[in-house]
Amino acid sequence: MSETVYLNGEFMPLEKATVPVLDRGFIFGDGVYEVIPVYSRHPFRLPEHLRRLQHSLDGIRLANPMTDAEWTGLIRDIVARNAGDDQSVYLQVTRGVARRDHAFPKNTRPTVFMMSNPLVTPAAELVASGVPAITATDFRWLKCDVKSVSLLGNCLLRQAAVDAGAAETVLFRDGYLTEASASNVFVVKGGTLLAPPKNHLVLPGITYDVVLELAQANHMPHEVREISEQEVRGADELWVTSSTKEVLAVTSLDGRPVGAGLPGAVFRKMHRLYQEFKQTVMRQAA
Ligand code: PMP
Repeated sequence: MSETVYLNGEFMPLEKATVPVLDRGFIFGDGVYEVIPVYSRHPFRLPEHLRRLQHSLDGIRLANPMTDAEWTGLIRDIVARNAGDDQSVYLQVTRGVARRDHAFPKNTRPTVFMMSNPLVTPAAELVASGVPAITATDFRWLKCDVKSVSLLGNCLLRQAAVDAGAAETVLFRDGYLTEASASNVFVVKGGTLLAPPKNHLVLPGITYDVVLELAQANHMPHEVREISEQEVRGADELWVTSSTKEVLAVTSLDGRPVGAGLPGAVFRKMHRLYQEFKQTVMRQAA
């Protein structure tokens, strides 16, 4: 089955989907996006993803081109038109096509694009072994809570990890942990789970929220507060979370072992809780 995508009101094969070169997404990176994991053909935490999309659109002063009901219908449609029970839906809204000028164009129709790819979550071996990460200074802009398609900073930081043979780049700004190039970061110290606060310096991860809800519901000691670089380097456990990575242990940082150099007991518990939670949600949706 050839991949079916959605562009400005129509479903079409991927090869047929093109946008004009003056699209502000292409010229300025002037747009926002979402990635929604789909398990057994059910979108996971869709209302939360649509709420974050609205927050991103508000952040760039772009009107939402659709209602939540319309988004929900389209997402169900694209999932139905693509192969595989577990998918990853990508949607993007840009400020549309206009002659190049930094100022916003008037009366321009936003470009809406959506595609769905097979969802690839970490293999069991990676969950069991953990992954290496490196660190870098967070040099991105001060609106990291906006899920902007302008991802050049994130791309450069992620490539630094690839060049070093690592899975992620953990970021520090002014001596404090923000997040990683494409995931949120959690620390475990002395049995307590620590998470940096959600503010303009991090993307408010949907997985981040799930992890904190699970910690709360299961009486696992946890705190949301600023975490210093020193605390990260002295952590017993370090995790990265995202819709596609789910919860993954970082077992070495800049070539040095994190804690015992293996995924820790708190990670193993959270990974199990996360898988159980997914199953429960999908059973309820079915
Ligand atoms: N931070 C950044 C910079 C990301 O790119 C992502 C993944 N999109 C996340 C955090 C995790 O967000 P989520 O759990 O919603 O996938």
